[in-house]
Amino acid sequence: MKELVSNPSPRPRPSDTPLPGERGRGEGLKFYSFPSLLQKTSWLSPAYVGVDDKGIIKYLSNEAPTEVVAVESVQGFALPGFQNAHSHAFQYAMAGLAENHAVGTQDDFWTWREAMYQCALSVNPDQAQAIAAMLYAEMVRHGYTHVAEFHYLHHDKDGKQYSNLAEMGTRLVAAAQTAGIKITLIPVFYQKGSFGQDPQPRQRRFISKTVDDYFKLLEKSKSAVQNNANASLGFSVHSLRAVELDDIKTTYQEGPNDLPFHLHVAEQKKK
Ligand SMILES: [Zn+2]
Repeated sequence: MKELVSNPSPRPRPSDTPLPGERGRGEGLKFYSFPSLLQKTSWLSPAYVGVDDKGIIKYLSNEAPTEVVAVESVQGFALPGFQNAHSHAFQYAMAGLAENHAVGTQDDFWTWREAMYQCALSVNPDQAQAIAAMLYAEMVRHGYTHVAEFHYLHHDKDGKQYSNLAEMGTRLVAAAQTAGIKITLIPVFYQKGSFGQDPQPRQRRFISKTVDDYFKLLEKSKSAVQNNANASLGFSVHSLRAVELDDIKTTYQEGPNDLPFHLHVAEQKKK
């Protein structure tokens, strides 16, 4: 199954039509059979799937290939790989830390955010990479084949830039490679604490002061994904509260028009 789920978007084929020229030829392919396989418009039942050594589907039919020596029977349904459209990987390290509270203590979004800030301030690049690799491996295990990483943990624990401005993003791409998941790295422009408020000291790892600072980060992030067929880039502002409105407009208008743009549409007004 690993080969199959590593293919994020197999092109659906009509239920009775194998790929051209592939009918009956199983050379070099590994074959699986399923009771049913979900395609764009219908189920294929039964489904025979042949994948090459890169996990690319080369054969898909409701008829068994004629010259195959072995077909692994999978007693379950086959679905396309899922896409995780919004991840903050470092937060995997705080799973369980914001859910338990002493009796009588306050427990709301703000206590969660405080735990998140403490987590954000504590991880170094090696730890961030390890946390992300664990998280992405769990995603793969549960059927995800692509993650969009909404990434704002840019600087060191003191808020200083790493010598490679995109050090943390580079680590996330490496983690995705380790886990075997495709990644869209989305460096986030995070400028302010709230509407009309300067950033708080504990947000220091997130901050780009100006649009130009953010574009430098974005430019450097390109090298984190280049020459990697399983990694791509997006760009982003964190939210309406975390970037000045004029700078949001400038970022969107002057940013690359060939990359996806991402933001938190809804955000808290409170500081
Ligand atoms: Zn988010």
